[in-house]
Amino acid sequence: MNSLPELIFNISREGKIGYSFSECEFPEDLAVVDNDKKRNDIPDFPQVSEVEVVRHYTNLSHLNHSVDSGFYPLGSCTMKYNPKVNERVASFEGLQAHPYSPHNLVQGNLEIITTLEDWLIKITGMKAFTLAPAAGAHGELTGMMVIRRYLEAHGNARKVVLIPDSAHGTNPSSAHFAGYEVKEIPSNSDGIIDTDTLKEYLNEDVAALMMTNPNTLGIFEKNIVEIAAALHENGSLLYMDGANMNAFMGVVKPGDLGVDVIHLNLHKTFATPHGGGGPGSGPIGVSENIVEFLPVPLVHKSGNGFVVDYFTEGGIGRVKNFYGQFLVMVRALAYLMTLGRENIRKVAEDAVLNANYIRKNLEGLLDLPYSAKTLHEVIFSDKDLPVKTLDIAKRLLDYGIHPFTIYFPLIVHGAMMIEPTETESKETLDVFIDTMKKILEEAREKPEFVQGAPYNTPVSRLDEVQAARNPTLKWEKENV
Ligand SMILES: *Cc1c(COP(=O)(O)O)cnc(C)c1O
Repeated sequence: MNSLPELIFNISREGKIGYSFSECEFPEDLAVVDNDKKRNDIPDFPQVSEVEVVRHYTNLSHLNHSVDSGFYPLGSCTMKYNPKVNERVASFEGLQAHPYSPHNLVQGNLEIITTLEDWLIKITGMKAFTLAPAAGAHGELTGMMVIRRYLEAHGNARKVVLIPDSAHGTNPSSAHFAGYEVKEIPSNSDGIIDTDTLKEYLNEDVAALMMTNPNTLGIFEKNIVEIAAALHENGSLLYMDGANMNAFMGVVKPGDLGVDVIHLNLHKTFATPHGGGGPGSGPIGVSENIVEFLPVPLVHKSGNGFVVDYFTEGGIGRVKNFYGQFLVMVRALAYLMTLGRENIRKVAEDAVLNANYIRKNLEGLLDLPYSAKTLHEVIFSDKDLPVKTLDIAKRLLDYGIHPFTIYFPLIVHGAMMIEPTETESKETLDVFIDTMKKILEEAREKPEFVQGAPYNTPVSRLDEVQAARNPTLKWEKENV
């Protein structure tokens, strides 16, 4: 696709129509809409045939890059291929229920909720889960509220949440929204949190540490057990951002490492497509002493059936209407049951293998700011290159590859954050590696050419600030 599809307004011709209906036989005096409010014509509405409308929208849809159409190695977000069988299961008619349905009519749906909770409990080693939060960031907020309630119940909510400098931007904002002051702690030269550095920050004001593991550099926080112990000794809690669970599910259980609260992203690790702003789900799991503070509703088994608790003594109340994003839960459960216990571990192993295959092949050509072992993603920088990270990302578009995440994490100058995921074959990884080598060669030979990329896309370099601040989202005659 080398150009934008013809604007539908430009192919409009007077008198062309897609459908024609017979005269309305509905008696005028029964009409609900007042006659003076009725519109007889719509000014400037394009007049086109049905096939032209279909082609217009189909061609527009081809402008989107997706995991279904090409390699998409964003780091931090796990943009993996999600098997279509999950979509099939989520569309089963028997699962579509009105959220106000009486519980005795939706026992199967309630069973799905508790079964998924059980799988997540087994994977994480936590004591209990709530599936209510609608996204990772929402899970973080819920988790921080639960932590606040727990600390209040123990006498003092405290004031400060510690967050390492490599954290995802949602972490500090969630802590802030839960009423905490955020203090940043530096990671060490290995890219992880040092137990001694952490101890310098610990005092009676510290409510919790929010740790992403593996962190956004793709490095496992190997001091986590010591760190959890130091926090607990200080009366503080350990929150784990589990958005990167793709890197070690089935291998290590965060609950065994001393984590008190964790969120997972069902739309990253557990097979709901994401990136289009569609529904997500950010369940949180908690350790035993925190279970009573979970939000409602809580679904649990009772006798031969399932019941729902809407009120608990100590809990934080509701964070979401109804049960959360039910069909995202269905996809996650379908995914886990298809994989089975053995293959859940294999997902993580293959995700780590793929990322390290890319690392090995590009190491030496690109600067690797942290040489520690990496898991599911690898971060390079643009140090010593004749062009910038942005230029390489733009040139990748010409080769039909979605760029990796650029300029994050912030602690790496010109970061290129690559997460291939387990779903890509060696052949695809080889194409990516060869393409990167080709672009680096182009950059050495004629940097200005790479700086002018992309050349094959309908629009080239955009003013991204203007596009975000003043987006033109609708067609207006004046704009053409
Ligand atoms: C994606 C992500 C989040 C936020 O999750 P959303 O579902 O996008 O709100 C938090 N932390 C990390 C490390 C992430 O990758």
